[in-house]
Amino acid sequence: MTTPNVPAARAKVRGIILANRRTFVVTTYGEEGWQEVLAALPPQARTKLSGSIRGGEWYGVPLNEQLDRAICTTLGGNDPSTYLRMGAASAERLLPEAYPFAVGSRQPLVMLRALRQGGARHWDPIVVEHQEVTPTHYRVRFSGFISNEPNCVSNIGFFTHAVELCGGRDVVVTESSCTRSGGAEDCYEICWEPPLPSGPPRSG
Ligand SMILES: [Zn+2]
Repeated sequence: MTTPNVPAARAKVRGIILANRRTFVVTTYGEEGWQEVLAALPPQARTKLSGSIRGGEWYGVPLNEQLDRAICTTLGGNDPSTYLRMGAASAERLLPEAYPFAVGSRQPLVMLRALRQGGARHWDPIVVEHQEVTPTHYRVRFSGFISNEPNCVSNIGFFTHAVELCGGRDVVVTESSCTRSGGAEDCYEICWEPPLPSGPPRSG
């Protein structure tokens, strides 16, 4: 990495990520859950998120972090696994819609390769690098800005569930390097067992 990572305060995220968080909250906790989250936010953040969230527009990464932390504190019992569930919910929404062929193929590698095209559109600045380590171990490296706990953990939840949606079993995603602890990048190691072969068609 030759370009130093900028502080999160100078990084931006697409509204679609924030809109997916709202959908996660409304689906899981109802509209009153969303109102609770809004009420827990500082006034400036509340104003920004109260109206319509435009998917294609840029918002500050700190606003995303405030939102995620408010969801975790207010509705998630302050349990960081809430961030995993947020990421998984994003995968559930995005994948079947954006990459139906990848989900249908039941080949996690096909899906992860397809994500390469889309990943760079969601944060700015960001550098995304993909590596196929083995047929069941894929590495995604993000750099560009210094991340935060909700972002890193929700990314783990996203990749985990994305591979599961494609039939991958025993999925384990770890961060082998993290910008939060001074690393040059957020490096996600995505490992799984291959999908079971489809059984023979049943006569009925
Ligand atoms: Zn990280």
